[in-house]
Amino acid sequence: MDVEAIYKSADAILTGHFLLSSGAHSGYYLQSAKALEDPKTAEKLARALAEQIRAAAVEAQVVCAPALGGILAGYELARALGVRSVFTERVEGQMTLRRGFEIAKGEKVIVCEDIITTGGSAAECAKAIEERGGEIVAFAALANRGFCRRVGGVAGDDTCKLPPNKPFFALADFDFPIYPPDKCPLCAKYGKPIKPGSRPSAA
Ligand code: ZN
Repeated sequence: MDVEAIYKSADAILTGHFLLSSGAHSGYYLQSAKALEDPKTAEKLARALAEQIRAAAVEAQVVCAPALGGILAGYELARALGVRSVFTERVEGQMTLRRGFEIAKGEKVIVCEDIITTGGSAAECAKAIEERGGEIVAFAALANRGFCRRVGGVAGDDTCKLPPNKPFFALADFDFPIYPPDKCPLCAKYGKPIKPGSRPSAA
C-alpha cells in the first residue's frame, strides 16, 4: 500500500513551514482529514492496517483514538476489525474518556492515530484507558513519521513516547525532516510557522 501516493493524490501533503502538534517544525504537513475525505480511501487504508494487526494475532475489543485527529482513522479501523470505536479528548489539557464511553476492566484496547509523530497524544490516550482498567494491546496509525519503531519499519529514536513493550502497527514510514524549534532552518527563511490544522480552509 503506497500511503504517500494516496496522501499526495488527495493533496494531503502540504509544503511550507509548519508547527506540528509535538512542538517541532517541519517543511511538510500531513493533512490526514483531507486524505480520509473520501470514505473509500479511509476504508482501504483501515482494512490494510487491520490485516497487519490480524496477521500479528493481536486481538482487541475496542479501538480508542485521541481526538480530533485520530477519530476517523480509529473509527474505520474499528469497523475493519469488527470492534467498538471510542475516543478520548482533552479537557483542560487532560486526555479523558467522555460522552458515556466506557471501558470494562481487562478489556483489550488498540490506540489508533492518523499519524504518529512522537506518539505523545497516543500515549496520553493509552494512560486514560489504563486508568479505567483497560489493557493496551497495541498502537496503530496510518503512517509513522519515523520517531517510533513500527512493526517491520524504521528503528525510531529516543523522542518516541510510545511504550517500547507494545507493538506499533503503521502502513508506512513518512521520512520528512522535522526540526526542534530552536534549530529550524525554515524559521530564518520564513519566520513564524503556521499550524495548518487550525487554519480556516480557503473560501
Ligand atoms: Zn521553523
